[in-house]
Amino acid sequence: AEFTMLDTRVDDGEAAGEAELAQPVLAVVGRPNVGKSTLVNRILGRREAVVQDTPGVTRDRIAYDALWAGRRFTVVDTGGWEPDATGLQGSVAAQAEIAMNTADAVLVVVDATVGATTTDEAVARVLRRSKRPVLLAANKVDDERLIADAASLWSLGIGEPYPVSALHGRSSGDLLDVIVAALPEAPRDGERAAGPRRVALVGKPNVGKSSLLNKISGEQRAVVDSVAGTTVDPVDSLVELDDQTWRFVDTAGLRKRVQTASGTEYYASLRTKTAIDASEVSVVLLDASEPLSEQDLRVLTMVVDAGRACVLAFNKWDLVDEERRYQLERELDRGLVRVPWAERVNISALTGRSVRKLAPALRTALTSWDQRVPTGQLNGWLSELIAATPPPVRGGKQPKVLFATQAGIRPPTLVLFTTGFLEAGYRRFIERKFRERFGFAGSPVRINVRVRE
Ligand code: GDP
Ligand code: GDP
Repeated sequence: AEFTMLDTRVDDGEAAGEAELAQPVLAVVGRPNVGKSTLVNRILGRREAVVQDTPGVTRDRIAYDALWAGRRFTVVDTGGWEPDATGLQGSVAAQAEIAMNTADAVLVVVDATVGATTTDEAVARVLRRSKRPVLLAANKVDDERLIADAASLWSLGIGEPYPVSALHGRSSGDLLDVIVAALPEAPRDGERAAGPRRVALVGKPNVGKSSLLNKISGEQRAVVDSVAGTTVDPVDSLVELDDQTWRFVDTAGLRKRVQTASGTEYYASLRTKTAIDASEVSVVLLDASEPLSEQDLRVLTMVVDAGRACVLAFNKWDLVDEERRYQLERELDRGLVRVPWAERVNISALTGRSVRKLAPALRTALTSWDQRVPTGQLNGWLSELIAATPPPVRGGKQPKVLFATQAGIRPPTLVLFTTGFLEAGYRRFIERKFRERFGFAGSPVRINVRVRE
């Protein structure tokens, strides 16, 4: 097979504020029985069970989260990739090829007590072309006397053999140090700034933003006083809702009701963008008494593109009668196809109706925004999904999804490692199923695809 560009990334079309691929990937390759699974277990510290003995659950495409010296990375056991290649040597070499084109580093495991076999040599030949780091574990070095056997593996021409005993744990810490040093530095999910969670209140003019802020900030002065030592940016408002303090960002204009005569729309849109960017969760206010407008959808799109959690608040519910309610439902079916996951509340800023329901909706959305699915769990679910509904064939080829990781949070971002392009429709299908299984109500979820061409 011809393999070209290593990490062509295909986006889901959401350009702005995309989360980085935060967690580097280590692929483990080698012949059967050299001790790959045992070593992977050792690397994971047995925090997750690698071998699922449930009948029908295949062992392929397994990937797990590892943590060493404060560094998180994903470990992938490549056994099971390309089982259709001819012969053992062919299939192990093919696995190595994919690993080298997919992962950030490759760990080759060789049985030092056996020495380099022709299959090991075939793997080494492939990996000598690798542009990413390749590490060689000389396994089953259970005691000192076997170290000479390990040294003989220099002959493979892929660098220093690190003697380890996966079974007894001998020198596995040293190997992990080397692995972590070889992996690219991952940007960490920075600790969230302490203090109240940041909320943007956005929506078209006259939808009721100032009214809502006034309604819920009745107790605001008291709140500001009670949060001792908190420096409140004067453009923000601290608001107590449901026994929790929230920071409503960029509300100065709302409070003062500053409205400029000319260029209002431009400035309104700029201010909306600023507020959304400053927020963790945005409340998009919609006027339930009027048809959903272009302007509403523009604001909503800004929130989704910025990757913020989202609550839809249908305001002026006091004006909604049975007939309007029916119309509205039909408008939403069509208008909100992009955000079926958004939290919804029906409120009246005028009467105060259901305004207290905002807080639980905000909490749900933020919990989803912060949520991370462990790699093992994600891949267990994904391999079943894909076995049941494989990606559509394109140009006569069936793209394979090798494994996935949730690379980031805020917003949750999945990366699928594949052997071919996945159509937008199929990615949406995966997102829908992902939400059915794991929730994520109120938060956008991004799905990026890393293709080995
Ligand atoms: P895999 O097929 O490469 O994943 O290999 P396994 O992890 O399933 O291991 C194959 C066999 O080798 C098992 O019986 C393991 O217990 C054994 N094994 C793995 N690592 C070591 C080791 O460091 N020393 C010894 N003596 N045996 C090992
Ligand atoms: P903003 O431009 O988004 O800040 O909107 P305002 O808060 O200034 O509200 C615009 C108009 O809608 C005002 O006349 C409000 O009294 C009215 N309004 C706001 N909320 C409601 C509501 O829940 N029900 C009704 N009937 N009117 C409302």
